Amino acid sequence: MYQYHKLGCPIAWVSDWLNKFSLFKIKLNTDSCLSCGACDKKCYIVAMEPAKYSLYKPATEKPGNSYTCSKCLECVAVCPNGSLTYKV
Ligand code: SF4
Ligand code: SF4
Repeated sequence: MYQYHKLGCPIAWVSDWLNKFSLFKIKLNTDSCLSCGACDKKCYIVAMEPAKYSLYKPATEKPGNSYTCSKCLECVAVCPNGSLTYKV
């Protein structure tokens, strides 16, 4: 339903465009990441295409850079040790 909403909503199109050029990004600290996978379980983008996207697995696309990322920041909130941050 969320994807349907985004495709049909002009405000979401602008939001997607701003997302692309935003200075703020979801960043991973690979040194402190425990590879627990909790962040991926919270992200609807990963849920739709788990082979393509992951917030922490190497050699995968980062859902935070996707135009469909809503910046819900559930991934950041669920991380048990603050390895994900949303900053410039
Ligand atoms: S902010 Fe939300 S949509 Fe974006 S990567 Fe994190 S959990 Fe996924
Ligand atoms: S929730 Fe945090 S510690 Fe767990 S895999 Fe994601 S970034 Fe790494």
